[in-house]
Amino acid sequence: MSTLQGFTIPKTQTAAVVKSIGAPLEVQTDHPVKQAADLKPGECLVHISHTGVCHTDLHAKQGDWPVKPMNPLIGGHEGVGIIVAIGENTPNSPVKLGDRVGIKWMADSCLNCEFCRRGFEMNCPEVKLSGYTVDGTFSEYVVSYTNHVTPIPKELDSAGAASILCAGVTTYKALKVSNTKVGDWVALPGAGGGLGHLAVQYAKAMGLKVIAIDTGAAKEKLVKSLGADAWVDFKTSKDIVADIKAATGGLGPHAALVTAASQTGYTQAVKYLREGGTLVCVGMPDAEMGANVFWTVFKSIRIQGSYVGTRQDAVEALDIAAAGKVKVTFEQKGLDALKDVYEDLEAGKIAGRVVLEVSKQ
Ligand SMILES: [Zn+2]
Ligand SMILES: [Zn+2]
Repeated sequence: MSTLQGFTIPKTQTAAVVKSIGAPLEVQTDHPVKQAADLKPGECLVHISHTGVCHTDLHAKQGDWPVKPMNPLIGGHEGVGIIVAIGENTPNSPVKLGDRVGIKWMADSCLNCEFCRRGFEMNCPEVKLSGYTVDGTFSEYVVSYTNHVTPIPKELDSAGAASILCAGVTTYKALKVSNTKVGDWVALPGAGGGLGHLAVQYAKAMGLKVIAIDTGAAKEKLVKSLGADAWVDFKTSKDIVADIKAATGGLGPHAALVTAASQTGYTQAVKYLREGGTLVCVGMPDAEMGANVFWTVFKSIRIQGSYVGTRQDAVEALDIAAAGKVKVTFEQKGLDALKDVYEDLEAGKIAGRVVLEVSKQ
């Protein structure tokens, strides 16, 4: 094993633990830290400084998805920190002690199965998911995997980089598979939210025209400041399908990136998309899509699921942010605020993203 020179790994740490599905969150100050000698080949210990909070963390806590999380569980999958130890006999590690790295939803995959080879690492049968099937980033120290942690570009500070690792990668990848080219229109329902405000910026960086769909003056101001070309307020609009079509010259957008946690956004998109358009499904309600088959066929609509991103997508998403083209709007809090953050998430009260400072570094 090897440990970062001059660094002493403590025996215990502060961690936000969910003991069983649906149980309240407990911030424990005496949670054990896996020691360097106990790391397996390929594992690394990351000293976390910042972590974002994602809506998925709430699903993990509540266990309300068809795929169940492990318990007890430490959630979190938008973490940034320093590698302080690497397991003995780790072959060809792409990262070294002292590197600042990101931990994303996909913690590890085998890299050798058909899915890994074809660029669908997230569908690997041996995939490990941060804060879901392995402990995540709501703790001072987390065990991660040298092949999958993502180096953070020096231009980005850790707090600003955190939410790129899930919200950023997810929206960037969804745009990559949206079958659009420079100058095309993309519809972004929920454009003023955590995923949406990043999607606006990635879409602009990719040369797309953005129609932002959300509600309220604050969100309108935010998305316009980020470069949205058109705006539809879903609360004041009398006919949202007609308004979206009109705003895009009458034909509708070439793609829609739907991050909603309810069915309506998906059903609606098939109605307003341009002929030949692509509906990219990103939000994960456990529901039927309800897309009309006649119009899907008649309009040659393509329906595309997009699930997080690969190691390469993460590197690209961070590079675009490092170039100054994407900035996360976030509020910073401490790890002990996580309980309140969950309540605010449930109530839909969070604008942008919340990033927790886990330890001062
Ligand atoms: Zn996430
Ligand atoms: Zn695999």
